[in-house]
Amino acid sequence: PIKTAKTSFIGTYNMLGLAKRVNAKFLLASTSEVYGDPKVHPQPEDYWGSVNPIGIRSCYDEGKRIAETLCFDYQRSHNLDISIARIFNTYGPNMAKEDGRVISNFIVQALEGKDLTIYGKGSQTRSFCYVDDLVLGLIKLMNSNIHGPVNIGSNQEFTILELAELIRSKINPSLKLILKDLPEDDPKQRKPDLTLIKNKLNWEPTINLNNGLDKTIQYFKMLVK
Ligand code: UDP
Repeated sequence: PIKTAKTSFIGTYNMLGLAKRVNAKFLLASTSEVYGDPKVHPQPEDYWGSVNPIGIRSCYDEGKRIAETLCFDYQRSHNLDISIARIFNTYGPNMAKEDGRVISNFIVQALEGKDLTIYGKGSQTRSFCYVDDLVLGLIKLMNSNIHGPVNIGSNQEFTILELAELIRSKINPSLKLILKDLPEDDPKQRKPDLTLIKNKLNWEPTINLNNGLDKTIQYFKMLVK
């Protein structure tokens, strides 16, 4: 956690200094985590969030928040050309097997014939964006003069239980779903308001969860023998 906070703050600070020196454009890969466990749903960019400053996720949430602050202070103080993307849950081929995030966990567990581990009751929601869509959005943002912050992600919302059932049905319907403890400060719901990126960059996700999962499962089949 200390390295996470340090990377977000000192890493962003160092990179902004470099961008200023060589007069480069700066893109910050920020996160929906800046909204914390949101009380507003879906989350628009002007929602300030609901973040615990001292919990186990805070190193990342607060780290990304200070990174956004640094970007805007470099823009105001040094006229640096910055853009901030707030990336919502993203998945796709080339994820690491041990990544620990939910889609790779469920796919790898199912391919290995293991039970799927649901944290809490699985009623929490997420909206999953396929990586190719996300990358296109980032390129569009980088080529624009919009500082943001701009939400990028999918607005198709699913409960974690629905996700587990979908992945299980695609790989091995006879597997069990087992309930584990919900980690502290796990957001209960998350879905981006995509109005800004649709209007300003004419971007919206094109690959739905069903098709994106098929491509991702195909990839993990090569890794899990
Ligand atoms: N999750 C789960 N089982 C897992 C991994 C994650 O139920 O094996 C849940 C997790 O508690 C969270 C959601 O899936 O509610 C998304 O978790 P992930 O770590 O992928 O992303 P984030 O919490 O950062 O949105």
